[in-house]
This record gives sequence, C-alpha cells and structure tokens, in this order.
Amino acid sequence: MPLRETEAIVLRTYRLAEADKIASLFTRQMGRLRAVAAGARRTKSRYGAALEPLSYVRVFIFEREHRDLLRLNSAELIESFFDMQKDYRIQLAAQYIAEVAERMVPEREVNERLFRLFLAVLRSLKHSGEITRPLLYFDFWLLRLAGFLPDFEHCQNCARNLPGDGYYGPGSEGLLCDSCRTGVTGQRISLQVTAAVRAGCQKPLERWISEEKAPAGCREVRHFLEDLIETHAERKLVTRAMMEEAAG
Ligand SMILES: [Zn+2]
Repeated sequence: MPLRETEAIVLRTYRLAEADKIASLFTRQMGRLRAVAAGARRTKSRYGAALEPLSYVRVFIFEREHRDLLRLNSAELIESFFDMQKDYRIQLAAQYIAEVAERMVPEREVNERLFRLFLAVLRSLKHSGEITRPLLYFDFWLLRLAGFLPDFEHCQNCARNLPGDGYYGPGSEGLLCDSCRTGVTGQRISLQVTAAVRAGCQKPLERWISEEKAPAGCREVRHFLEDLIETHAERKLVTRAMMEEAAG
C-alpha cells in the first residue's frame, strides 16, 4: 500500500463507526476524496485538531487500488480556520464553501488554481471580517474554473447585446434579454453592477478588499452566481438558505 503525502483542506468529517470518522478532503495533489480516519472519534486521537472543518492540513494517505475509500494515516495542522468560525456568519460562510466543494468539485481531479482559491477565500474570511466579497469571489472563480461562468453581455437565448439589464430565473444558466425572458419569473440584474464585480474578481482577493470598497450591488451578483451554482449542482444548497435566514 503506497503512502502518499499531500496538502488538503478538510471539508468536513462524518462519523463512521464508534471510534472512526470519514474525512471529506480537497487535496492539493490528489483532488477531492474521502478517507477513513481510524480512531478519530477517540478523545486522545492522533489527529488532534487537524480534522476540524476547513483546517488546512498536511495528510498522509494510504492509497488502495480499486477501493473508493482511502485510509488516512496521519494529519498535521498547517493553518487553522477554526477560531474565525466562532462568528456564526463566518461559520455559515465556511460551511457554504465546504458544501459547494462537495457538490461541484469532481472527485480525484487535481486542480491547483482551485486549491489556491480555497486558501485565499478562507484567509480573507479570517482576516477581513467581510463575507460578501470573499464568497462572491469564491462563486465567480469556482464557476469560471468549472467552465460554467456565463456571458454577462449577451442574451443566452438570442445572443443579442444586453441593453443594460439582464434577467434570470430558477434553472438559468445565463442572462436573458427583455424579449426572451417571457415566462421567466425572474430577477433583474444590472450589467453595470456585474461589470464592477467582474473587474474586482480579476484582482487578487486580498487587494480587492484592502484597496477598494465593495461595489454597490455585490449582493445582487452573489444571488445570481449562487443561482447558477444551484443550477449546475442540480440541487438547493442547505447553507445558502441558512445564510439568507441569518441575514434576515
Ligand atoms: Zn434574447
């Protein structure tokens, strides 16, 4: 059984047997996977705090051929994102990232850019105290790297230039013009707002947040991008609903 070392972000853990857990991990060198952490539920487990949700860790994994579930040999903490989650809003944001990852990131596909995105967004949640732009940035780049980011300037149906506003509704994969939106009971979004957000997302997240104020309409764009994620995930996101409820 070959032992492999990789960096990883702990998406979450599930209880398995009396003493064990399954760790759902997004790893840097092996992609997203699940591994059994034997004994992880014991009080004095050798994993310590390394398996807390969203921890950035170094893990050693036994790779078994023809087996879906791998085995975790050990995990050590590189950077913790635990304390920030004492703030309930940040905890929900962190859980949202984990839920989207489990729904959208393909298993066993290495994606270095996506891994760096996760770290940048988690660090920004930890240090900026802001929620909207880190999540917006996460949604934008996750969709973009998955090839699902739509054209913001043309109607998805007739390909005409959108005049200033676009429309979308449940199940949309892009924006519609005023004539094509018939029957879509949807939301309107301004192209000016999406352009400002897209410009921000072209910068490193840390710089966008430290050097500029959040552009007006961030929440509108986030709503649209989260609808797109739900469309492609083919399900409603539990944490999205929880965040909306918490925001009141
Ligand atoms: Zn159209």
